[in-house]
Parts: sequence; C-alpha cells; structure tokens
Amino acid sequence: MRNVESALEVKPSTGKEKAPMMAAAQFAVKKAVQKPQEICEVIEKNESQAMKAALQFAVKKRVPCSEPAPKPIVASPIKLSVTSHYAVKNAVTEAYGVFDSMEQAIDAGFQAQVNYVKDYKLQDRERLINAVRQSIVAEKETLAKLVLEETKLGNYQDKILKHELAALKTPGVDILKAEAFTGDDGLTIVEHAPFGLIGAVTPVTNPTETVINNSISMLAGGNAVVFNVHPSSKKACAYVVTLINKAIKAAGGPLNLVTMVKDPTLETLNPIMESPKVKLLVGTGGPGLVRTLLKSGKKAIGAGAGNPPVIVDETADMENAAKSIILGASFDNNLLCIAEKEVFVIDRVADDLIFQLLNQGAYMLDRYQLDKIMSLTLEENHQEEARGCSLNPKRKYHVNKNWIGKDAKAILSQIGVTAPANVKLVICEVEAEHPFVQLEQMMPILPIVRVKDLDEAIQLAVTAEHGNRHTAIMHSKNLDNLAKFASAIDTTIFVKNASSLAGVGFGGEGHATMTIAGPTGEGITSAKTFTRQRRNVLAEVKK
Ligand code: NAD
Repeated sequence: MRNVESALEVKPSTGKEKAPMMAAAQFAVKKAVQKPQEICEVIEKNESQAMKAALQFAVKKRVPCSEPAPKPIVASPIKLSVTSHYAVKNAVTEAYGVFDSMEQAIDAGFQAQVNYVKDYKLQDRERLINAVRQSIVAEKETLAKLVLEETKLGNYQDKILKHELAALKTPGVDILKAEAFTGDDGLTIVEHAPFGLIGAVTPVTNPTETVINNSISMLAGGNAVVFNVHPSSKKACAYVVTLINKAIKAAGGPLNLVTMVKDPTLETLNPIMESPKVKLLVGTGGPGLVRTLLKSGKKAIGAGAGNPPVIVDETADMENAAKSIILGASFDNNLLCIAEKEVFVIDRVADDLIFQLLNQGAYMLDRYQLDKIMSLTLEENHQEEARGCSLNPKRKYHVNKNWIGKDAKAILSQIGVTAPANVKLVICEVEAEHPFVQLEQMMPILPIVRVKDLDEAIQLAVTAEHGNRHTAIMHSKNLDNLAKFASAIDTTIFVKNASSLAGVGFGGEGHATMTIAGPTGEGITSAKTFTRQRRNVLAEVKK
C-alpha cells in the first residue's frame, strides 16, 4: 500500500501561480497574523521585495485591507472536553464551530456561507482548503487516537492512514470544471454554483474522516456545512471541527463554515431537516438514516450500507487475491462500508485460496470455534427489528455491537484461542445462508463459501449484496467473467484484482471519498456533487 503522506508535497494548485512564489506565499500565510490589516503592516515592514510580492499575492484575493473582516457569529465559548489520556499535541481547549444548540449552529453556518461566497474567490477557497489539509495531516495521530478512544472501534495505524487519505485525496476546486457550448448563436457556460448551507450526518465508523472529507468537498463547492455527527463520536468530531475552523481562520477565511451541535442526538437532526436555511441534506450511514433524510421533503444525498461480496474464479492470481482480501477485510478491523465482507470461490480453487490466506497470516476457525464465535458476536433478533445493512425486520440475527470493529486477536482470545501476534483476519468456511455472509458484520471475520461455478457465485453474491449497489470485488484474469459479474451486481464501486480500498483511491486511481452515494446515485462524492448547475447564456446579437 502506498503511503499517502508523500502526496503532501503535491499541493492542489489553481494552475496559475508559480511554484516558488506559491511556497513563499504559503509561508507568508502560515506566519501571517489573522487580520488583513495586520498582514498589510507586515508587507510594509518587510524589506525583501520578493517577500513583499509573495505576501501581496497571498492577500490579493482576500478581503481588501481597508475593509473590516466579516464578523463571525460567536456563541458562548464551549470548552472542548478532550479527555484523552494520550498526550494531545498543542491541545485546543476552546471550540470553534461547536454550538450548544442546533439552531445556533445553523445560523452561524448560514451567515458564514453568505460571507464566503460574497468575499472569497475560487483561489481563496483552494487556499483555505490547503490550510485545512495541512492542519489535519499535522494532527493525524491525535485524531486517530481521539477517535479510537471515544468510539473503541478499529485500529490506530489504519485510522492515521484514513485521516491522511481524507485530507489529501479529497479533491478541491480543481474538480469543478465548467462546460461550454459555442456556436453561431453565441456562448453558453454551465458552471457549478453552491447550494448554500448543507446539513450532513456522519457515521460512527469514519466519524472525523467523514467530517474532513465532506467539509473539503462542500467548501470547495462554495458551501458551508452543519453536521449532526454520530453521538458516540461527538468529542473527536468537536475537535476536528475546531481544527478546521482554526485553520480556515488562520488562513484568512471566515469562522463557522463548518459547524456542529455539541451534543448531537437523533432529535437534533430535526432542525436541520426543517430549517429553510439548509438547502441540501447529505447522510452517510445505514439504511434507516438514508430513509429518514429522503422523507424530509428536501433534496437529499444518501450514502448507505453495503455488504461487499468478493468472487474468486479459477483464473485468479491466488497469492495476489489472498493479499488483497486480507488488506481490505482487515483494514480498520473491517469497519469500512467498502470492505470485503464475504467471499465466493470456485470449488476447484478454494483450497488454493485458503492456503494462500493462511500463508498470509489469516486464522481459520474450526466448526467448534465457529459456533463459539457466532454466539459471541451475533444476537437473535427477538424484537423483529430492522438493523444493519438491510431494512428487513425478519432477519434471524443481528451483529452484537460490542464486537463491531474489534481486533481479530481480541475476538479469538474471547473464545479461548491464543492467536499469533500478527493475526489481522479470521476466516471460516460456511454456507451462503450463514448470517456471517448475509449480515454486514464490520468485524475482521471473513466467511468463505465454495461454489460450483461462476453462475452460482454471481447469483449468491448478488443476493448477499441485498441490492445496496454499493461495492463488489472480483479476482480473475478472465475479462468475460469480470464483465459478467460487474454487470449482474451493478454496484457503485467494482474493483478488479485489488483490495476494496483501491475503490476509494487507496492503492487505486481516482480521488477519495468517505461518502459513497449508492442509494441516490451520485456515487463517489466530491465538490461537484455538492453544487448546482447554473447556465450562463451569451447570445450573439443578430444584425
Ligand atoms: P448508523 O446508520 O447507525 O448511523 C449513521 C448516522 O445516522 C449517525 O450519525 C446516526 O446518529 C444517524 N442515524 C442513524 N439512524 C438514524 C435515523 N433513523 N434517523 C436519523 N439519523 C439516524 O450507521 P453507523 O453505525 O454510524 O455507521 C455504519 C453504517 O454506515 C454501515 O452500515 C456502513 O455501511 C455505512 N456507511 C456507509 C458509507 C457510504 O459511503 N456509503 C460510509 C460509511 C459508513
């Protein structure tokens, strides 16, 4: 897997500036004081002509020196309750963008967006977003620790990578390309306009990463965003919302482009859904959330659950298949919605695949251990409640939340198995109807189903995906087979011969997202998703 840190050196560019000039300008912005007036004074004092030019470049597109900076809405200061026992570097204690009530968060975000589109140009957006990227990368370890400590899901190293990915591979304004039509009748340009204030809901599985990814995309589109974050991640999210606001402020932007309510609940979503100030809803989570947003009467973008199947056929490179499957299925303890959740392998090569998986460090459960792990990690659905990746209330089992996102070693140890230190994934052989196949477990336990041929594999994989149209993976060298499965499953992401992570730009081409909008069809979201199309027509005057 490529370390995304190297990407830091490649800063998204507006395409117009010269590199050394840009570096000097960035240095200047970093060092610069908060207010434009003070920046002007710095310019006056500076003896170096080159530095002067660079500073002028840095502030050129900002609020003119003579005008006062737009006044932010300031709620009564909220103290960040970062109670981490980890050392929090440069701990931020006063929250920015975090409000006591959702109404305050909406008002502040609304006003910030009005100032943002009025006073800041596309170049400014890119500069503010770069400041956000840098601040997240600088605090990636702290963020990973805070999220792990609060949610108790996933693992530390992978969370660092997820933060880097969200900070560095979420596209900025560069993805907003206008479309032009020219001809005898004149010129028409279709450009991307902001929605305004967006209301966004985030999952517990990628809490801060989704805040980062959504914020960059939405701000690049000229919007502001008010979050209703998952309650079990509110402290880490308050921390990242503060970081983002501080970075924007330090780079000369308005406060409160990103806001949240301090104590989110299901009820605090109501003001977002009802307020005329919120123009678009974006939800990342399970099917219940998506359904709620779609019933609101507002335009909603829904990124729902998945249960991604993997097919391995006779032609696959088994070593590569095993490595890729372990990487994707064990990453952050299988929390990702795109992660490999069940494997269908052609019987003739099933032993080869299992051999390679064991060779790469997976742990295989025997029948007795499988029974024990089932009683540990699943619970019977006595209440006939709909949960997880499907709205079907008739499912026999649900996943026991206590074991979601836990380490393979911890799960094994609970059933009395002392596993080798490097075990990241538990595998087991089951039938297609097994709850481990049909439920979106989000645990590093990967069920493997033997099938007689490709047709059976496809039919079972499509059933296990439950029509979510989210993600599917296939390992094969046969183009016809790949095309057959891709067409039958019709998912938003289809990965061939790599880990599912490649589907969000992690070891694969294309940008990253934490919000894959399958149910509403926007797909891999970016700034473009969070804009309206606006048509500008210049007609040729006919004489
Ligand atoms: P969840 O659905 O329980 O919660 C997601 C968010 O929605 C939370 O903020 C929660 O408070 C809120 N919420 C939940 N039910 C709601 C309802 N009925 N009305 C209003 N708000 C509601 O999901 P989670 O456990 O936080 O996250 C895991 C789920 O999210 C998995 O199913 C995973 O596949 C999915 N997910 C999808 C994507 C994607 O891009 N498609 C990304 C990450 C996670």
